[in-house]
Amino acid sequence: MPVKTGYGNKKNMRFAIRGFFVLLLLISLAIYGVVLSLDWMEKFVSRNDLQIISPQCGWALEEPGSLDILRMGYLSLSTYYREDRVIALTFDDGPYPLYTPLLIDILNRKGVRATFFVIGEDVEKFGSLLELIDDGGHEIGSHTYHHRPIDNLNGEEIKDELRMTDEVVEEIIGKKPVLFRPPGGRIDHFSRRTVLDYGHVIVMYSINPGDYWQRDPNILYEDIFEKAHPGGIIVLHSGLIQTIRLMPTLIYEFQRKGYRFVTISELARIKGIPLPEASEEREEEED
Ligand SMILES: [Zn+2]
Repeated sequence: MPVKTGYGNKKNMRFAIRGFFVLLLLISLAIYGVVLSLDWMEKFVSRNDLQIISPQCGWALEEPGSLDILRMGYLSLSTYYREDRVIALTFDDGPYPLYTPLLIDILNRKGVRATFFVIGEDVEKFGSLLELIDDGGHEIGSHTYHHRPIDNLNGEEIKDELRMTDEVVEEIIGKKPVLFRPPGGRIDHFSRRTVLDYGHVIVMYSINPGDYWQRDPNILYEDIFEKAHPGGIIVLHSGLIQTIRLMPTLIYEFQRKGYRFVTISELARIKGIPLPEASEEREEEED
């Protein structure tokens, strides 16, 4: 019966069209889901593990949003859920007379070890303060020689900043820094690649209360505890009175909450991030 068949065809057609749209909707939802999870994973990873970028695993940052992020996310999740209650205190700039020794004194009295990212030209001026940091068992990293934002420099200029700082630090304490923190936290694809190729580990942070402009220790304190998380890296500064005023309560509160303070190298070890060989053993590269 032609009429009936025609009707059946039309029905089939309508059914097929409806099916096609449902399928299209499902595919779009699936794509949307993958995009969302990549986005979530990237945020999760950058909060938890892309704070320490070692030359050995710099691949994770080459193409943010790529499937490498999922791989990094897996590593990140596995360490995150171990809930290691560790946190790293880092201090940028200096060393400076008066404030750096005060800071070191507080840390040493409380048995806390931190990481100091020092400026080469200040080390040149106040070498004995670098020894004071080193003698306290704290870790020392590089923060360039002139405190210039490295995303404005060319490859040679970046390497000069790193080399000059390494040399002056090595002259005083007998070991070269392996860790590096970019001034102002400013880094782009090119400068990141240059620093990693040079063999330094880039150390960013996940908790930045802005002690360089906020002078009220209570506000700094609240901000830090709002953002605090296991495995976090706090960035503070060496030459500021508000930071020194903040320290005793900050240390007390973290310890009361069951946190242990670690240096960046210890944190990297806990997170399973490979670091280059100890600086003393590294050989001078000639070119
Ligand atoms: Zn700085």
